[in-house]
Amino acid sequence: MDVDAIIVGAGVVGLACARSLAQAGRSVVVLEKETRIGQGVSSRNSEVIHAGLHYAPGSLKARLCVAGRRALCDYLPARGVAHERCGKLIVATSEAEIAALEALMARGIANGVGGLRMLTSAEARAREPQIACAAAIHSPDSGILEAHGLMLALQGEIEDAGGAIALAAPFAGAVREAGGWRVRVGGEAATTLLSERLIIAAGLGAQACARAVEGFAAALIPKLHYGKGNYFALTGPAPFRMLIYPAPAPGSLGLHYKRDLGGRAHFGPDLEFVETEDYAVNEARAPLFYEFARRFWPGLKDGALSPDYAGIRPKLHGPGEAQGDFIIAGEETHGLRNLVALFGIESPGLTCSLALGDHVAALLEERA
Ligand SMILES: Cc1cc2nc3c(=O)[nH]c(=O)nc-3n(C[C@H](O)[C@H](O)[C@H](O)COP(=O)(O)OP(=O)(O)OC[C@H]3O[C@@H](n4cnc5c(N)ncnc54)[C@H](O)[C@@H]3O)c2cc1C
Repeated sequence: MDVDAIIVGAGVVGLACARSLAQAGRSVVVLEKETRIGQGVSSRNSEVIHAGLHYAPGSLKARLCVAGRRALCDYLPARGVAHERCGKLIVATSEAEIAALEALMARGIANGVGGLRMLTSAEARAREPQIACAAAIHSPDSGILEAHGLMLALQGEIEDAGGAIALAAPFAGAVREAGGWRVRVGGEAATTLLSERLIIAAGLGAQACARAVEGFAAALIPKLHYGKGNYFALTGPAPFRMLIYPAPAPGSLGLHYKRDLGGRAHFGPDLEFVETEDYAVNEARAPLFYEFARRFWPGLKDGALSPDYAGIRPKLHGPGEAQGDFIIAGEETHGLRNLVALFGIESPGLTCSLALGDHVAALLEERA
């Protein structure tokens, strides 16, 4: 056996899986097709640490978000990763939206999210003087982090534990042999490696990687939808210290406001289903951003927003379909020994990452 575990994908989730296994004493190799870590979904998101209100009670998203946020609370300061527990306001911008806030509050409590408080509009304004709302939920545990710093910290821990990250090393396929997975690695230094365990944490590439595993039934590979999210940045001082989110909307947490760790204000992401991996900001969406932001910030001036960046969610549902959970497909799903494939790791995957890593490692260790 060359190695105990091969992990495909050096995004935040693959790195967290590798860290958990390496710290459990396993030899690990992370395969990454790009020349640097974290160039996929993990570098094109809101960098928000979610508290876990939005997800269906009992779902993987809810459980791993709450556990992942708690784990980050200890991890980020201990590893010197930039972050801020700035808190979040989820706002009802009309009386009609208050019922949705109350349902969200009940869901948050059911998920075990601490410190939630319903605020009147005057109480919300006392915290954020420029906010316009009919009511708000205050979530004190929400925050922001520097995603790349988190990934560098994970890389450091993997390497300290003797693990390796192979860059420009695309996963090209795997076949089950007696004792392990024979993994084909492409790129300039193409080779094969024999590994006892195999984890596919390839973000937008997860479905293609699963198709390249011999014996992975096509019917068990969920369809991938690209859920693009555009962001616009604000020129001028940030109007709010806290994160500001709307009352829940189908398909995403809704376009929100964020002040980043450098103090710059951003609005996004919207949700636009696209056919290709195209990261150009769709400037035609600007009027929607003004309209949305002015619901809770009437002070937004014409011309103050400029195109910023875009990310693509690896969604498992398409337009009009109900939002689902993460899929973590182990042997009980596909019948293939010591293989775990992760599909649909959209938001809150960054918040979940440390808990996801431990969850996947535990799944494999139980069967080892
Ligand atoms: C617009 C947007 C906003 C979001 N906001 C938040 C947020 O605020 N908070 C939060 O918690 N989550 C958020 N998320 C979700 C979060 O960013 C993701 O869940 C997380 O980054 C997924 O990490 P990953 O490691 O699974 O994927 P990735 O970071 O995409 O990593 C997968 C890696 O696999 C590599 N790869 C693919 N194919 C191969 C192959 N064949 N061989 C080798 N390597 C391969 C890719 O190059 C990539 O590096 C957001 C996502 C989006 C798109």
